Amino acid sequence: MKRVHTVCDECMQSVDAQLEEFYTTHLLRGTEISIVETWPVCPQCGNKIGLGTYANENDKLLYEAYRKATHLPGGDEIRAMREKLGLSQKKLADLLGIGVASIQRYEGGSLPTEAHAAMIRQLNDPVFLRQRLQDTNFGSAKEHDALVASVEQTITREEEDASLSRIVFMMAQRTPDEYTGEKAFNAERFREVLVYFALNIRELYRTKLNKALFYLDFSAFRDLGHSITGLRYARADFGPVPDKYEQLIAAFTNEDAFYFEEQDTGGQILCTRKNEFGWWLFSPEEREQLSKVTEFVNRFSTATALSDASHKEPLWKQVEFGDLISYKGASTLKAL
Ligand SMILES: [Zn+2]
Repeated sequence: MKRVHTVCDECMQSVDAQLEEFYTTHLLRGTEISIVETWPVCPQCGNKIGLGTYANENDKLLYEAYRKATHLPGGDEIRAMREKLGLSQKKLADLLGIGVASIQRYEGGSLPTEAHAAMIRQLNDPVFLRQRLQDTNFGSAKEHDALVASVEQTITREEEDASLSRIVFMMAQRTPDEYTGEKAFNAERFREVLVYFALNIRELYRTKLNKALFYLDFSAFRDLGHSITGLRYARADFGPVPDKYEQLIAAFTNEDAFYFEEQDTGGQILCTRKNEFGWWLFSPEEREQLSKVTEFVNRFSTATALSDASHKEPLWKQVEFGDLISYKGASTLKAL
């Protein structure tokens, strides 16, 4: 047990006080908050000694717990939001219509008032931000316009990211059925399939990738009873394509793990910066399927040849343009 040498503020004796933990409940701004406090205890009179350093530590714990319980934004969070928007403390204060001293205090760890917290939280809301930008005067017209333009850019980028992550989220929420290959979409597994293909398939053009995914999922359903990615496929002009393919690829290739390499042909090849595929996310049978499909795809000399083969598959011709293709037709796969 740790001890501190100090003077007891009750019996006024010089003592070696032992540090003890106290489970304590506080009422802070009407909310009950429980924390484990640490205090030195006087061995002479049993008093909890109110030493400043411990009082400060316990206060910090209390504020942090309160912040979490009430979802008040913390200092680091406020600074991160401000920096993301490219605003100084002064500009953020102007934007929110509050004093710059308040922003400084909040970023330093003080608890924001409920009203200020509500405004700070709204920095994540593009509608609110745009309105405030319009209503705020940021110095000269030139300075004002430059600031508005740069914040606007951030908002737009955020909105795009949000809509992409929404797609992935919505896909993961779907109940597995005959159109998902009886498997729920799993973003992590999908990402690793992309990594595997990027590492092992020659010249992975977008078209080639979508055919590879189709053959992977449908052959896995036929051979293992479920798809690998949980993707749905629909009938496009020529052959089957993953549902929301462009958005999906955009969502994943925005990540650092991937990049596209421009070709002289004008096409783009998907490449990965990762050098290991996350094989532990897949069963041995699934890994076998990945390797079989890769070997199959690499047998075709061009993306067009592979496309042609997929266009001869009967299962997609039976559905209308735009309709989802049932995995139940997987038994009729011809090429693989
Ligand atoms: Zn004492």
